[in-house]
Amino acid sequence: MHPPIPPKTADFIRRLPKTETHLHIEGALPHQLLQQLDPEQFSEPQACWAQDFRWQCFEDFEHHLIEHAMQWFTTPERYYEAAKVIFEGQLAHNVRYVETSFHAGMIQFIDIPGPEILAAIRSAVPAGMEVRVFMGMARNSYNEVLAPVLEECVHWGGLAGLDLHGVEYLPLEEWTPKLWARARDAGLEMKAHAGEFGPASNVREAIEVLGVRRIQHGVRAIEDDSVVDLAIESGTTFDVCPISNVKLNVVQELEAHPIRQLVDRGVRCTISTDDPFSFGNNVEDEYAALSAGLKFSHVELAQIAKNGFAVALVDEAIRAQWIAEVDVVVE
Ligand SMILES: [Zn+2]
Repeated sequence: MHPPIPPKTADFIRRLPKTETHLHIEGALPHQLLQQLDPEQFSEPQACWAQDFRWQCFEDFEHHLIEHAMQWFTTPERYYEAAKVIFEGQLAHNVRYVETSFHAGMIQFIDIPGPEILAAIRSAVPAGMEVRVFMGMARNSYNEVLAPVLEECVHWGGLAGLDLHGVEYLPLEEWTPKLWARARDAGLEMKAHAGEFGPASNVREAIEVLGVRRIQHGVRAIEDDSVVDLAIESGTTFDVCPISNVKLNVVQELEAHPIRQLVDRGVRCTISTDDPFSFGNNVEDEYAALSAGLKFSHVELAQIAKNGFAVALVDEAIRAQWIAEVDVVVE
């Protein structure tokens, strides 16, 4: 679905070892699995996959995603099956490292313990790929059912970190900075969605109040120079999803996407697909979008890939090997 790019660039992007560090597992549900459930209802490609499709509002997008995810994700086995197809698809695009999150709300909706969802996703990782699994939650997820889960998740084996998901207009509640600090002390990597629909001040809040150095999106930081400076000075990385931002009207068109300015100013950015079920994108489309819409050179595209490996939660030896492989492709 990506914009037209020269064959040489398409070949370069395909061969480039890549990462995805902003991927919601429920939003990555392979359409072919729904087809297996109901071949008739899911026979056609989705309208939202068209390049010129735009979601009317975040709520429409979220409703569509949840409605479909709930049809598939009913058991740990279903998480395993979906994750297997997702990871194999990414491997085919030369993705070597993935950070994906499952939504804590699913623990409540389908009544499956979080560690079982976590184990199911982790057991689907193919050879040749490293995957780190995060648990995401909304700003108002700390309810009667989930509060005890969120308190204990810090000690689950195999959980890489936490992420704050969902609508940004909800206020940051008191429990969140406390949990983020506790999880960080326990060695988890902490993330937050900010600066997507919310203003630059949300990015500042995530860095200063939650202490995160991994912002999901972050693109609206561009509206406040002091927040861009803060991101650079604090060594914060933005895990950006350009096609998601365009289809959700966070930016009006690809050519106006702030990732160009953010990168030029010195903010470390990676690119990912966010929710490919609802955008119809794969990671090569994201690279093609930067090339076609924002004139990223091959060297700049390679740097985006390297940024993903730079923040990867892996041994230095593996990191060095991946980065060396990127350099081979650039040469
Ligand atoms: Zn996201």
